[in-house]
Amino acid sequence: MAKMKVVMKQEAKVGAVLSEMEIPKIGSREVLVKVLATSICGTDAHIYSWDEWSQKRIKPPYVMGHEFAGEVVEVGADVTAIKIGDIVSAETHIVCGVCDLCTTGNAHICKDTAILGVDTNGTYAEYVAIPESNAWKNPKGIDPAYLAVQEPLGNAVHTIMAGEIVGKTVAVVGCGPIGIMAVAVAKAVSASKVIAIEVNEYRLELAKQLGADVVINPMKEDPIARIMEETNGLGVDVVAEMSGNAIAIRQALKYIKLGGRMSLLGIPTSEVSLDIANDIVFKGITIQGIVGRKMYDTWFQVKGLLESGNLNLDPIITHRLAMEDFEKGFDLMLSGNCGKVVLYPTKELLDTYNK
Ligand SMILES: [Zn+2]
Ligand SMILES: [Zn+2]
Repeated sequence: MAKMKVVMKQEAKVGAVLSEMEIPKIGSREVLVKVLATSICGTDAHIYSWDEWSQKRIKPPYVMGHEFAGEVVEVGADVTAIKIGDIVSAETHIVCGVCDLCTTGNAHICKDTAILGVDTNGTYAEYVAIPESNAWKNPKGIDPAYLAVQEPLGNAVHTIMAGEIVGKTVAVVGCGPIGIMAVAVAKAVSASKVIAIEVNEYRLELAKQLGADVVINPMKEDPIARIMEETNGLGVDVVAEMSGNAIAIRQALKYIKLGGRMSLLGIPTSEVSLDIANDIVFKGITIQGIVGRKMYDTWFQVKGLLESGNLNLDPIITHRLAMEDFEKGFDLMLSGNCGKVVLYPTKELLDTYNK
């Protein structure tokens, strides 16, 4: 049986290991994809560092990774829409397809969701098997690193597009990879002023490169006072919350405009106490949780945005490494001094695409 290189979460402890396993066998409705590029997600960094969430959710040993692009090399007997040679990425929520949510356009919140590379073997591998229904067919001839980051880009698009945005003032709170993407998306769809808030200077610089009109380091200045000043004392129309930080969330509720929208994607590690009466009810604001990507509305929005030429992904992808150097990639992610880190399963692929 042919073997492949993988990065495994081998044990219930910090770290991961480079290993080998058999190339997966596919079911009748699955496709086998040769991975061309895979990117490190914040979720993967949580699993790598084995935080509280991971300890409850993850069942080692398994293959990590879920953001990727690759070439289809085998299709199951009942696969109809995907062909050998297609270049695909994947929606990472593997859903039941038949429940009341799945059948009403809300598959992204299906209660029977399994997540690729979290609940199943993932994409830090030379090959991955995915359901045909999760394969997203890409145009050919595009750098696979760009295609790999469509999944987190979809999170950014889902957050920014979850309400009115054209001509609105927007605060993006937390500028990790999805935050900087949110800055770029907000600018691409004509938000009037985009304010980026982030404690890491490297990431604030990236936010600036991606078009943020104002950048604020809350360790250095009061974000509430500064944002009021930047918005004629009104506050911002939209808050895209990517940090999950309790203090940042409470501050955002102070500088959000009356009647504004707060869309939350960041995940706090514990309960957050809020002044509901003064900051939510009397301000008449809307708070919404954002999970995953709408299937597949958000993917079409991502495709359209990429085709529009208004989104420049170059500054977002800051590091390209061979998969065997994954530890370097995780060190970068955990330091915060990076945008998106892309891994290539082999040195040959790195040499081919890292130009
Ligand atoms: Zn991800
Ligand atoms: Zn379902």
